[in-house]
Amino acid sequence: MENSKRRFLKGTCALLAGASGATLLATVSASNEAKADPSVKYALIHDETKCIGCKACEVACRETNHVPEGVARLKIEQTGPYGEYPNQFYHFSRKSCQHCEDAPCVNVCPTGAAFIDKETGIVSVDAWKCVGCQYCIAACPYKIRFINPVTHAADKCDFCRETNLAQGKQPACVAACPTKALVFGNLKDPTSQVVQVLKANPTQRAKVDLGTRPKLFRIVAKSGEVAI
Ligand code: SF4
Ligand code: SF4
Ligand code: SF4
Repeated sequence: MENSKRRFLKGTCALLAGASGATLLATVSASNEAKADPSVKYALIHDETKCIGCKACEVACRETNHVPEGVARLKIEQTGPYGEYPNQFYHFSRKSCQHCEDAPCVNVCPTGAAFIDKETGIVSVDAWKCVGCQYCIAACPYKIRFINPVTHAADKCDFCRETNLAQGKQPACVAACPTKALVFGNLKDPTSQVVQVLKANPTQRAKVDLGTRPKLFRIVAKSGEVAI
């Protein structure tokens, strides 16, 4: 059943490819606009000053979301060491979907497989609608999408929308972090921890000049936070 749906969508895509680019983009854009303005807007903060690079978040993500080896929804990247021995330190930064409010991956997807969930603002993927064209992978300025070798669909972090979040739990990475370096919550709730932390700390987001309005925030590490 699933394969026949995908075959149908692939056939439809081939027809759409014959249509003018302007018509296609207008259709896709209109469908995305209908999904705008979520009542809940989830965001994540990575507090790099608390991150010790243990990668428990990566492991928890893989286990919870059944992410196969060789690909990853979340990576902790290490840079350094900085400074002079014995006062050296590393920095750790998170690489994962930014849950853009104006998401290039959604804007280019010809089948609606890449979408913004109107209930949560989470950018997600309907695997059965995905035809593997990889337009979204090319369009993502953060280079975090991949083709899942098991499902053969585009894949990426979805804040555990279909796993932990659906069960009323925090995303797996957040729950697993031993230092509370990850804070997840609703930007539209002024009492949420995520809003409180954002109010109390200077934060940065990646490539904001592109107009993507990312919802992954960083509290940037200061020198000497993680000593070796
Ligand atoms: S970071 Fe990439 S995959 Fe995530 S919403 Fe933005 S464009 Fe899409
Ligand atoms: S590969 Fe990306 S752009 Fe192509 S159908 Fe799948 S989600 Fe949409
Ligand atoms: S689990 Fe927490 S401390 Fe460990 S690498 Fe991930 S964000 Fe950093």
